[in-house]
Amino acid sequence: MTKHKAETRKDELRSGTPLWVRTSHSTVDASSELRHDRFDAIVVGAGISGALMAEALTRAGRSVLIVDRRPPVRGSTPASTAMIQHEIDMPLTRLRRKVGADRADRAWLRSAKSVDGLQALVKTLRIDCQMRQRPVLYLAGDDMGARALAAEAEARREIGITADYLKHADIVSHFGIDRTGAILSQASASANPAQLAAGLLQVALSRQARLVSPVEITDMAELPSGVALATAKGEVLVAGHAVFCTGYEYLPQMKSTTHRVTSTWALASEPVRGLPGWLRDVMVWEASDPYLYFRSDEAGRVIAGGEDEKAANSNSDPQKLSTKSKTIAAKLEALTGIKIGKPAYRWSAPFSVTDDGLPIIDRVPGFERVFTVMGFGGNGITFSMIGAEIISAMIAGRSDPDADLFRFR
Ligand SMILES: Cc1cc2nc3c(=O)[nH]c(=O)nc-3n(C[C@H](O)[C@H](O)[C@H](O)COP(=O)(O)OP(=O)(O)OC[C@H]3O[C@@H](n4cnc5c(N)ncnc54)[C@H](O)[C@@H]3O)c2cc1C
Repeated sequence: MTKHKAETRKDELRSGTPLWVRTSHSTVDASSELRHDRFDAIVVGAGISGALMAEALTRAGRSVLIVDRRPPVRGSTPASTAMIQHEIDMPLTRLRRKVGADRADRAWLRSAKSVDGLQALVKTLRIDCQMRQRPVLYLAGDDMGARALAAEAEARREIGITADYLKHADIVSHFGIDRTGAILSQASASANPAQLAAGLLQVALSRQARLVSPVEITDMAELPSGVALATAKGEVLVAGHAVFCTGYEYLPQMKSTTHRVTSTWALASEPVRGLPGWLRDVMVWEASDPYLYFRSDEAGRVIAGGEDEKAANSNSDPQKLSTKSKTIAAKLEALTGIKIGKPAYRWSAPFSVTDDGLPIIDRVPGFERVFTVMGFGGNGITFSMIGAEIISAMIAGRSDPDADLFRFR
């Protein structure tokens, strides 16, 4: 028997108030009673990664226990601005140089396919979460200029991903934005991330999954025919498989040198009168460091974020919450002319990045039946979807053609 003692990483996953926690059906009821039945799988973490995982496993007919040390959907997921992008943080041209053209192309294509897959899933399951397909405008900035973006658009088109390169004059005339170049792409979406995760958990519960909170997993061991997880209270849970969907609070066994926790800030305005028509659909981000990104929601609010810092703990500084939200609002106004006034919501959070912009979706090193989905990066929700697809296939004994892309590195 392989046994590992684990001290889990703990973070304040948010400071301030994201608007999504104030919306209806943004969480689900959990049981406080931990029964010791044996399940086919235990999913640790009830955010978007755990919710997608539980949905995929219960769809395949498996019995599932979901546990979380917080109430369901109260980790990083409600902090997300939920621009559900096929665009990976690392541009295709750069990723090709870093990991080779074949791997980079497959990662980008899989990302685009999974955004479509997520929208189709939400439609089939009739989850009420404001999911809709939206175009994305990626603006030239200090990290990638016009020429680099033109090459990037060309590379994406080569592999069949729509990407129109826009010149300065087009950007000014369509969006009133003064940038030297941009890529306009189609295959992304937005949603209320908390309603999305809660809706998926509700579907898993309707298929007899159990959801118990608060339960903190502190230790794990592999048994000949399954896994045993220990809780902070000293209980032991047994299952055929375990999947850690614990977001930025990974266990030591899941640590990877490619991965770092950083800090990020976001805000949501009151509904803005006279929002430009294009902003109802188009979501925007820029090739700058630090970057600005923004979108609208169905109520006409502007949701914007960025100003990332490398330090993992600066997001808990209340002074920074105030200054960063002022900077984000000022940058938004300078770029678009939109004045949002005093933000209705502002929040900060840890945020994880990897050196190649790709997530870690794999068996935990040293274990056969313990897996993890760590969907890091600006398109973390898309990666959570890929994680559910790959890990549910692995548990079913099937191979996924892209599993090699997201291994522990
Ligand atoms: C400000 C901000 C903006 C973002 N914007 C976007 C965006 O526009 N688009 C996008 O795709 N992504 C975005 N992301 C990233 C995205 O939000 C994350 O990738 C995603 O929410 C991670 O979901 P998760 O389920 O993996 O983690 P979480 O939602 O954090 O869920 C993990 C759960 O595991 C539980 N847990 C942890 N350890 C244990 C343990 N030992 N025992 C029991 N339970 C445990 C936690 O309590 C938590 O509830 C953003 C993130 C932030 C912070």
